[in-house]
Amino acid sequence: MAREAKPRTSRPPAPPKPPAADVLLGELAERAARTFVERRQILSFEEYVGLLLAEPQVHLRDASTYLRDAFDHYGRKTIDRPWGSTDRCRLFDAEFDDGRDRLVGHEPVQDAFYRILSGFVRDGRANRLVLLHGPNGSAKTTFVQCIIRALEHYSSTPPGALYRFHWIFPTDRIERGGLGFGSGGRSAKGPTTFANLEDADIDARLACEVRDHPLLLLPDAYRREVLKAAVEAHGGELRVPERLFRTGLCHKCRQIFDALNAAYAGDLRKVLAHVQVERYTVSRGYRRGACVIGPQLSVDAAERQVTADRSLAALPTALQNVALFEPYGELVDGAGGLIVFDDLLKRPLDAFKYLLTTIENGEVTLSHSILRLDAVMVATSNEVHMEAFRRHPEYASFRGRLATIRVPYLLEHPLEREIYELHIVPQVERHVAPHAVDLAARWAVMTRLTRPDSEHFERGVGRLVEELAVDGKAALYAGELPVEGLDPDQAKALLGAVPQLRSEAAAAADAESLGGASPREVRSVLLLAAQRDDSACLSPFGVLAELAELTSHTADYQFLQQPAEKGGFHDQAEILRRLRELLLDRIEDDVRESSGLIEPGRFPEMMERYVREIRHWVKQERVTDKATGQERDADEAYMAQFEKYAGAGKDAAAFRNEVMTRIGAHRTDHPGRPLDVPALFPEMIRRVRRAVLEERRPQIHKLAERLLVHFDDPAAVPADDRTRVAALLEALVSGRGYCRECAREAVAALVRTRLRGTAD
Ligand SMILES: [Zn+2]
Ligand SMILES: [Zn+2]
Repeated sequence: MAREAKPRTSRPPAPPKPPAADVLLGELAERAARTFVERRQILSFEEYVGLLLAEPQVHLRDASTYLRDAFDHYGRKTIDRPWGSTDRCRLFDAEFDDGRDRLVGHEPVQDAFYRILSGFVRDGRANRLVLLHGPNGSAKTTFVQCIIRALEHYSSTPPGALYRFHWIFPTDRIERGGLGFGSGGRSAKGPTTFANLEDADIDARLACEVRDHPLLLLPDAYRREVLKAAVEAHGGELRVPERLFRTGLCHKCRQIFDALNAAYAGDLRKVLAHVQVERYTVSRGYRRGACVIGPQLSVDAAERQVTADRSLAALPTALQNVALFEPYGELVDGAGGLIVFDDLLKRPLDAFKYLLTTIENGEVTLSHSILRLDAVMVATSNEVHMEAFRRHPEYASFRGRLATIRVPYLLEHPLEREIYELHIVPQVERHVAPHAVDLAARWAVMTRLTRPDSEHFERGVGRLVEELAVDGKAALYAGELPVEGLDPDQAKALLGAVPQLRSEAAAAADAESLGGASPREVRSVLLLAAQRDDSACLSPFGVLAELAELTSHTADYQFLQQPAEKGGFHDQAEILRRLRELLLDRIEDDVRESSGLIEPGRFPEMMERYVREIRHWVKQERVTDKATGQERDADEAYMAQFEKYAGAGKDAAAFRNEVMTRIGAHRTDHPGRPLDVPALFPEMIRRVRRAVLEERRPQIHKLAERLLVHFDDPAAVPADDRTRVAALLEALVSGRGYCRECAREAVAALVRTRLRGTAD
């Protein structure tokens, strides 16, 4: 590139605009050259050691430490849930790639993986195979992919810098002017390195396939000295990976080193002049430092002779007589980083049994040598194969070398929905109607849930747990209340029970979250629903129809064969019935909120006004009415109306006193803080709201019917309702995400089932 920029000078003066292509190229080339130097891409061995001594924490890492540092580089964030907070590794948010293909949920899996990594760092070596197992489609692959993509990104940042080395053999011309072979030290004062030679001056360049640490080029005694200096430079707290002390160069590099060493009569400086240290980045595409091995492969590493067709003839005589073998294969590609065995247990056991030794001593035996492997090895497996593996007689010998992590299905429907929004919705070409994806997510989660055992809960909560239905449990796991009408203490107790509910269900024999529908099933349901003739959109009714179709194939899915239990658990018909009701509730909400009959903010306002009135009532004081300017008593009529909505019962005085007591208690607990009345009585506001809406229901239904008429013939809508009906449709479209088509479908269903009571 830099050379191409030269002709620029011989051209006539360039017109002021636009920038000529070659100028642009020239600038790009300059910039590339600059970053190349800034990032210290090519170094002599000596320069590299200088760099290492300056930043030993960057350069003295093994694969486990590097991986753990990558996790730390992206940091963590806290996610608040109603029952407590949890930590999330931001690496899985893929912020380095604008969140593309990020991992949704699975914080416990992240945590388990990180703890295992930290164990490897402590032990000085990745001495176990991390086995991620779980049902089909439980994001095991996404989990691993996020890590690989993070490594690719991290390795391009300064703290993630990685270096490997090559052997450089210059042309005769350079060699004669420098330190040539067999020159008998004739030019001992020649160049101290060939690292920066131009391609034209290089006869041969041999890579180290396993990306040996450059420091391994130093003989033991020297190496220890450098390591000692590096640790001291870092304040003595740096932990140097064991392998930098114990191991040596790979077989091929050893052969080259020995040959050069002999040729130079033991002059280390001359040997090292042939070393070119190069910065590299992890790349799955180029098979550098990260590798995914599919289940069909059975040879993960092997050796082949470096053949003469390339540059062998150009090698120095000393090396031409040596049969050089270079290792190759997936294990070699992943050396120094992450090696992933996809669906490992699909292979016959004999095809991966060698891993036992590899994990035990970090070595792979090849035909001519032993490959010392520094890599974190991760395998994935579905639950069925994992179960079979556990029963295999050889499992006992593997068990101690495995770190297993269960990757379950998600049980929070908002997260499940996020997965579909990320991965399925972009493939849908139609308009996606409101509630369609949400319904699918709720369905998937509900098929996974098991009936809770109330036995281990204290009586109050136990009763609530006992009554949980399948949709209530799903709501609870999403941090919502399962039923309306719970008082604040009950709500708190029930939400507080979630961690225990989850852990008990996960530990059960038919573990919740290991069974049920997979996101893959939902994918086909959504895509089929998006092709139906009975709707122009991807409609929630289409989703329900496709779900009914899928669940009729009992023999095809194991989760459909579980016996139904009370509360709708494993009861496919009941789950669909509850989803349909939920859908109609939601549509009714949409119409209500878009009707203009109830203004937002009205209910908190009613609550505040009620509290103001009972204050006057308690103090028996007269107040000046803002509207009329007249003195008056507390507004008895308003209070009575509110209490009716709130379901206060007969004893209004007791109810009012209770409200004041709760406010008083809150004041005592939070002295000096401003009082937020609505926040103190959310459940009461919900009750009032429900009652008011119930009162308005006939008006709302009438409006819905008129809207239906409007779709057929706007002129047929009575004149005094036309504006309101048009406003409703407009609000459904702009505020609720409907299009004309799915609004019509939804309102028609609402009118048919809720107004006319026709069975749907
Ligand atoms: Zn090597
Ligand atoms: Zn639509």
